[in-house]
Amino acid sequence: TTHLVWFRNDLRVTDNRALHAACEDPQARIIAVFIATPEQWKRHEMAPRQAMFIYQHLQVLQHALAERGIPLHYHQCDDFADSVAWLKDFCKAEKVESLFYNKQYEINERQRDVALEKAVCGSVVCQAFDDSLLLPPGSVTTGNGEMYKVYTPFRRAFLSRLTESDSRSLPAPQIREHTGKVVIHPLMPFDYPLEDIGDDFAVGEEAARNQLRRFCREQVQDYLSQRDLPAAAGTSSLSPYLAIGVLSPRQCLNRLRTECPQVLEKTDSGAFGWLNELVWREFYRHLIVAWPKLCKHQPFLEWTDNVRWRHAPDDLQAWKEGKTGYPIVDAAMRQLNTTGWMHNRLRMIVASFLVKDLLINWREGERYFMSQLLDGDLAANNGGWQWGASTGTDAAPYFRIFNPTTQGERFDKAGRFIKAWVPELSDVPERDIHQPHRWAEKYRRVLDYPLPVIDHAQARKDTLAAFEAAKNRS
Ligand code: FAD
Repeated sequence: TTHLVWFRNDLRVTDNRALHAACEDPQARIIAVFIATPEQWKRHEMAPRQAMFIYQHLQVLQHALAERGIPLHYHQCDDFADSVAWLKDFCKAEKVESLFYNKQYEINERQRDVALEKAVCGSVVCQAFDDSLLLPPGSVTTGNGEMYKVYTPFRRAFLSRLTESDSRSLPAPQIREHTGKVVIHPLMPFDYPLEDIGDDFAVGEEAARNQLRRFCREQVQDYLSQRDLPAAAGTSSLSPYLAIGVLSPRQCLNRLRTECPQVLEKTDSGAFGWLNELVWREFYRHLIVAWPKLCKHQPFLEWTDNVRWRHAPDDLQAWKEGKTGYPIVDAAMRQLNTTGWMHNRLRMIVASFLVKDLLINWREGERYFMSQLLDGDLAANNGGWQWGASTGTDAAPYFRIFNPTTQGERFDKAGRFIKAWVPELSDVPERDIHQPHRWAEKYRRVLDYPLPVIDHAQARKDTLAAFEAAKNRS
């Protein structure tokens, strides 16, 4: 009998539920497949960097599978619809009896899987697994069986369910006995713009696991004091791996528990603080399943669609390029543009700046982030943007508006992060780094750095008025 494992967003052999289940029958012939869908990726605004990261991990996966006697087939077609048609034929040609895959929760992905199950119905048994979350969507609900709209009660319910659930990590499958040597065919590069990703993120699940172990051993204790300081590298930087499934959240949880056995009891510890972030990740994924409109560029709060956003292409461009004249915003955007990653505190600051200072539609920011992020993830990105724009569930109320200057002063006091990314400001003394033009004027210095694109105090008033008017119109 032939088992096919369809890899999508789970590019690892360790703790992979679909792969593990497919390999349980020692007699079965196991084959694996990955289907690239560049047209679909374009529609989803996938960053060329992330495509490159996937491509590199696919090569590692191909070798890891081959060592275990499992060949990875690779196919490229346009979009999800084509992938279903191709997969149906492939199953027939390879006489596949059972198809194993891990679920994806975004709407297009879910519709694709429904279409596939229909297409192969009667000839192939499909087995789908909840793998990319600690608890499946729909399993953490209020007393009325509904999904939570607010994070804190969700977390409470989540953690109590988590202690009852089986979240052990599964081992990588063993070497298959009956297969000969698997020939490795070089994988054709995707027909997608591919961008260099530099050396910040080592490739491979082993590298990801090592980073996880190092973080849980050496850094997580200080997470609460370090996590908001962009110059400090106080967070795990594991998001690119989690986003494409090189690492599973169970591996994160189990490693955290091994290093910090008291994590669930000590709620004021760094370890609990970090677990809390993993639960945010779960929250946003559960939300997109309960409200699929979140996958379709729609706000959770409908009235916020009445906000009259500014059409300001030059300001949008200045934001994208990191040339707004607000040092912390510019440093953050340049970090994103250069590395594909941005610190969480900075994501909140630049999102607030785009929406609440420039009064530009949050969808522009969501889209631009996706096009740049190595860790692009629809649920987390949409959740983050709708939080920042005050259009989502559990959003900061619209009248809470970050001041980009004081945020900089609080979280990058000495301007270390700013100076690393905005070399035009290298001569500005620490105490003036957040208002460099004031310093330049006072000391008659010439700065090759843009003046602020907008006055924050005025922008704040305009935004409040725009949100109030939108609310009144609804
Ligand atoms: P750590 O602090 O070490 O956290 C551990 C893991 O928890 C992360 O790797 C991530 O998987 C998860 N996590 C942490 N914070 C959040 C959060 N607020 N929401 C959901 N999951 C979280 N995260 C993405 O993975 N992809 C995105 O596309 C994305 N877009 C965002 C957009 C905006 C506007 C905002 C405000 C946040 C966004 N985040 C996104 C969440 C968060 O900023 C990143 O997950 C985090 O900065 C990644 O760094 P880390 O791995 O060092 O995080």
